[in-house]
Amino acid sequence: MSLSLSKKALILVAIPLAFEIVFVVSLSALLYSVDNERKRENHAREVSASVNAALTALLDRFSSCVLYHVSDSPSFKKRFETSRYKIRAQIDGLEALVRNHPEEKAAVDKITDLLTVSVENLQRAQGQLELGNKIGAARMWMRADKDIGHLLGAIDEITVYQEKVLAERKAAQAGYRRAVEIILPAGLLLNVLIAIGLAFYFNRGTTRRLNVLLDNTKRLAVDQPLNPPLVGRDEIARLDHTFRDMASALEESRRKEHAVVDNAEDVICSLDRDGRFLAVNPAVARLWGYSDEDLIGDGLDAIVHEDDVKATFKAIDELVGSASGTGSFENRIICQDGRGVDFAWSAHWSKADKTLFCVARDITERKQVDRMKRDFVAMVSHDLRTPLTSIQMVLSLLEAEAYGQLSDSGHENLEAAEANVNRLIGLVNGLLDLEKMESGKLILLRESYKVADILTPSLQAVRGFAEQQGVKLAAPAHGNPEVFADRDRLVQVIINLVSNAIKFSPKGGTVTLAIAEEPDWIRFNIIDEGRGVPEQLREAIFDRFKQVEIDDAKVKGGSGLGLAICKAIVERHGGTIGVDSQEGRGSTFWFRIPRKIQTV
Ligand code: ADP
Repeated sequence: MSLSLSKKALILVAIPLAFEIVFVVSLSALLYSVDNERKRENHAREVSASVNAALTALLDRFSSCVLYHVSDSPSFKKRFETSRYKIRAQIDGLEALVRNHPEEKAAVDKITDLLTVSVENLQRAQGQLELGNKIGAARMWMRADKDIGHLLGAIDEITVYQEKVLAERKAAQAGYRRAVEIILPAGLLLNVLIAIGLAFYFNRGTTRRLNVLLDNTKRLAVDQPLNPPLVGRDEIARLDHTFRDMASALEESRRKEHAVVDNAEDVICSLDRDGRFLAVNPAVARLWGYSDEDLIGDGLDAIVHEDDVKATFKAIDELVGSASGTGSFENRIICQDGRGVDFAWSAHWSKADKTLFCVARDITERKQVDRMKRDFVAMVSHDLRTPLTSIQMVLSLLEAEAYGQLSDSGHENLEAAEANVNRLIGLVNGLLDLEKMESGKLILLRESYKVADILTPSLQAVRGFAEQQGVKLAAPAHGNPEVFADRDRLVQVIINLVSNAIKFSPKGGTVTLAIAEEPDWIRFNIIDEGRGVPEQLREAIFDRFKQVEIDDAKVKGGSGLGLAICKAIVERHGGTIGVDSQEGRGSTFWFRIPRKIQTV
């Protein structure tokens, strides 16, 4: 079982540290012993020197006593006196020296006693001389002489002892020196061996294992099988385990992703910046009839209908240049069998990969249905408008009693019939408008207008309706910027949105028409305090006949086409339309129109 990384690090630090401590402690002990030996040696020397000095002073005292007696010179008397202090000082010194050396105390005491006695005897001899008693003095000299003899004997004894001590100390010091000479290189060698051993241990247990991890990351990147799992329970083994889990999760999700891409109903492909195919999924064979080899390396322009190539690459350039890098476009793809098939593309430009990731969906059916719907609407509208207009005319004549008088209930029923016919005519007109716009037949008469030129007629048109509904209208001040648009069409959009806002506002509520200036756009916000639009319907209500509540059109009046017409007009201007809402607290219907001209 391998140790954890923290334990290994502890070993790496603790072992050399323990060794260093042992090494330093033993060296210090050796040095301490050597120092002690040196102190002992010095002590022996000091004792010898002190004894010799005392002996010299005693001999000096002896000789100065004799010489004073012979010459009567006061200088010898002075020497005699001084020597006493010198000897005393040496005796004190000797006593201090042996205070901590009990083994020498007896011998030194003997010497100091003999010194003291000799000093006293010489003092007495000097006293006898001064009294003129030469015989007495001579006796004292002889006694002192005898003492000196004993003293020399005692000094010999201590000298022999000290020499023995010195010899022993020298031998001990030599022993210590040898020990240091061995311990130092041995310690150094051991240190190196420990360092190598630990490095090897760490390398085997850690570095090598870390290298396996590193190698695994490289292998994962190039899709190669990973090294066998690392055994053990340390951090590295755990990391390896987690890495493997991550790699298999990655592999699993890659497998799923491939399965999704391979089995997708739509064409999924990637293109380079120049529109050349980098990768395609198998759907290309089914939908376009081409194989991978036919497409990869070739440009998208080779299979796009020649009329659509320019618009396709313009859309790609725009989405590549946009902040989100995302966009959509439609075109016709010329399939292998020569058919032109409509496709809707959703694409995302990855700046990091310098690749355009695309999904292309076959919209032939949708286009066909749209076309059929449009044809049907056009046909119905045309065929309905004429009879409806004549019915409306007849009803007006009836209402004006051109064909005779009517009863009150006749008038009532006629009014209801007229309202219904008007609604039908509105619906038919709306459908015709929409059809015109969606088929591109609507010509916009665009000019530069001040925003106020658009807002004023719009507000005038809805003021009466707002009063009738008890709803206040607000139009906060704005910078009155210019916008390049078809004024009548924008007025139509605003009237529609404001009328809706009034319709869905509570009595006493306020509808605000606010302008916001954006760098490239002018944004119109129509804010109400009504019931709001549920999140899931915020896109759908811009489709024809889509309502939040099933009978909104009936209860509130309207054709169910207003927002679809607004959307078509705004989009024809190159703008966008949408709604932000908090359910129960109101909605903001907004649309924005480019400030400058845009070709659509
Ligand atoms: P209509 O002409 O019937 O009003 P629109 O296309 O203008 O049709 O509106 C579609 C539906 O959107 C409405 O029937 C209503 O359900 C919803 N709607 C539109 N404006 C608002 C609004 N301001 N607040 C809440 N719902 C709205």
